[in-house]
Amino acid sequence: PEVISVQELANRMTERSVDVIKSLMKLGIMATASQTIDADTAELVVEELGHTAKRIAESDVEIGLGGEDEDVTENLVPRAPVVAVMGHVDHGKTSLLDALRKSDVVAGEAGGITQHIGAYQVTLANGSEITFLDTPGHEAFTAMRMRGAQVTDIVILVVAADDSVMPQTIEAIKHAKAAEVPIIVAINKCDKPAADPNKVRQELLQHEIFVEDMGGDVLDVEVSATKGTGLDKLQEAIMLQAELLELKANPDRSAQGTVVEAKLETGRGMVATVLVSRGTLRVGDHFVMGTAMGKVRALLDYRGQQVKEAGPSVPVEVLGIQGAPVAGDDFAVTESEGKAKEIAEYRQRLDKTKKVTATARGTIEQMFSAI
Ligand code: GDP
Ligand code: MG
Repeated sequence: PEVISVQELANRMTERSVDVIKSLMKLGIMATASQTIDADTAELVVEELGHTAKRIAESDVEIGLGGEDEDVTENLVPRAPVVAVMGHVDHGKTSLLDALRKSDVVAGEAGGITQHIGAYQVTLANGSEITFLDTPGHEAFTAMRMRGAQVTDIVILVVAADDSVMPQTIEAIKHAKAAEVPIIVAINKCDKPAADPNKVRQELLQHEIFVEDMGGDVLDVEVSATKGTGLDKLQEAIMLQAELLELKANPDRSAQGTVVEAKLETGRGMVATVLVSRGTLRVGDHFVMGTAMGKVRALLDYRGQQVKEAGPSVPVEVLGIQGAPVAGDDFAVTESEGKAKEIAEYRQRLDKTKKVTATARGTIEQMFSAI
């Protein structure tokens, strides 16, 4: 990928951009000062001009989502599945999430008041946990995927039994398939007289969703979000699917994960809801979050209660952010404040370079369209 503009590279070496352009020409690359070049090319130019290349990018890659430093198998322990609910408007996504939230035995004990933090966890009677993304389905899902983030392990496709497959149902199927996330079909509104679950199963065939009754292996459950029926079966299906996926993570390392939601709040400052993908996030940790950085001042769980730490798949709100992260940004704990600053500033420069080239391109296009 293109990482630095010719001008920026020249600035950093305190060389003239024309000299950078000349050495690029020697490499057979014709570029203008505003154009961006990739890291390998930049390194060649830097050496050509008698400087030493230091790639802060390397440490940046380290905290990417690629999982370059794999965790060894013996450190991996099971983690809760992260579930997103998708489906056509009015088919009952919100109602289903609400109904599932009520089945949380822990929240029940605590009085059942849940905050809206973009994700929440449900503890089942048998002690197993499920993490639900509580974000408006499709947009959040695509926004996150566009940023290279993949937090969802399972998609629950809600289809109303009295309305069957609709445009946004099909869209949701496409998203899930593109992301290679397994689908569980929740056939909702089965309490309605007009409900026809079999029609749903039939119509899904055309979109290559083959449920068990149709000879496939996609799990499907008949539910009623408002009556609360079938929810236990749905939870069983989620746990079954999770088992098949063998979801595991190493909790004993510095935390990495993804921002699910971020907002500026009066009195609290920038607050981000994150999901840890591996490691354990703790109060006092220094971190990079997209182009932002910070030190964890407080962690709050989905019930708004302060916690000292959060392990894999546990949604928490993070306070103590400097900057403005967005949904889909990655975050990683760094060994020091200096390291966090170095990476955040590097990313900010990258961002600026990208914006500059985007603007330059825009202008050229405008020039052409003006002709
Ligand atoms: P969303 O747009 O997918 O989030 O759908 P909502 O959860 O807002 O539900 C849309 C409408 O369908 C609301 O009026 C709900 O009360 C109703 N609804 C949702 N689930 C059920 C159900 O299982 N049975 C019945 N009869 N109505 C439902
Ligand atoms: Mg809704």
